[in-house]
Amino acid sequence: MDLLREMPLVYRELERWILDNGQPDDAKRFDARWRGIRPGVDRLPCPNCFLDGEDHPLAPMDIEKGVLLKFRPWSCAYCSERFDVPIEGT
Ligand SMILES: [Zn+2]
Repeated sequence: MDLLREMPLVYRELERWILDNGQPDDAKRFDARWRGIRPGVDRLPCPNCFLDGEDHPLAPMDIEKGVLLKFRPWSCAYCSERFDVPIEGT
């Protein structure tokens, strides 16, 4: 898995999710949280839990092939939310 290379794609998807489901201030806070992450060391925060004031990690799942593109789902064991991150064909 080339997760480090996928990080910008993951961030783009999670930020879009935050903007769709939260407030602009939430996106700013999430951006600040994201900047504190050490790539390859820290686990990524779940945006859904983040909006609830919780901090729980996302876990990467295997790449799946959709109709038009490949994507990697990231899931949160705490809230069961799942985030599909397109990694090819975008
Ligand atoms: Zn969560």
